[in-house]
Amino acid sequence: MSQYQATRPCIICHEQKPVSHYCSFDKLEYVCCHSCGLIYVDNFANNDDMYKAYTGGGLKSLRRRLFAPFRKMRSIKGYAHFMQRARGIFTFAKQYIHTGQTKTYLDIGCNKGFLLAAGIEENFDVYGVELVTVLVRPFCNTYPKYREQVYSDKFCDVAQRFNAGFFDLITAIDVVEHFEDPLADLKEVHRVLKEDGVFVIQTPDVDCDQAKTLVCNWGALKPLEHLHLFGGKNFIDFAKQAGFSEVTIHDAFEEADGNFVAVLKK
Ligand SMILES: [Zn+2]
Repeated sequence: MSQYQATRPCIICHEQKPVSHYCSFDKLEYVCCHSCGLIYVDNFANNDDMYKAYTGGGLKSLRRRLFAPFRKMRSIKGYAHFMQRARGIFTFAKQYIHTGQTKTYLDIGCNKGFLLAAGIEENFDVYGVELVTVLVRPFCNTYPKYREQVYSDKFCDVAQRFNAGFFDLITAIDVVEHFEDPLADLKEVHRVLKEDGVFVIQTPDVDCDQAKTLVCNWGALKPLEHLHLFGGKNFIDFAKQAGFSEVTIHDAFEEADGNFVAVLKK
């Protein structure tokens, strides 16, 4: 691996530890930290290009904008499958928290709100954050009571709305790789989590077989969206820097391009 003059240091190792060039995509460069193996986009694309990657642009985006305002969740294609997946993830996450009176739940990057729906089924008071407003409209139509508790923005821009120690359970499934400043965002998650609360994530795994064999063709390399890619070991170090004291690594909810799950406690 040849050394590369990166513009910003590794977010886990901080000081200018050497990084190597990893893969190029058009004008975007992934680099890899020699010390911890984090793979990250050195210079992000501009905000407009990154946002377009989320909304899909063009026809898909237009169709969504036209129909989503009237839709209920049940009319979403694959509803039963997505609901079953969400119940599985929620059941996994819930086992780590104490049962009792109504619990507060936040899903960061809640997409179409299936995890929130799974939380409602379990009598949780649910909150969601989703950058792409239109995605979450069918959820809001189905559960109008929770409309005011779903925020259409980046997590870093809504986190201040939540009081310290408010949530029993927080999930971010396939989300931390999207954060522009993951350390700042994880510190906010830590702040808004209760003392005995739990944070559950799933994210691509740089140590998985697909990452090793496919290298630049690994499906998780999407430089407009996936800005930081972790492995189990460096994620533990990283989460501890954000203040979490106990971090355990688990098998993925679904393999997809190769993922790991982490459970974080304060
Ligand atoms: Zn590093």
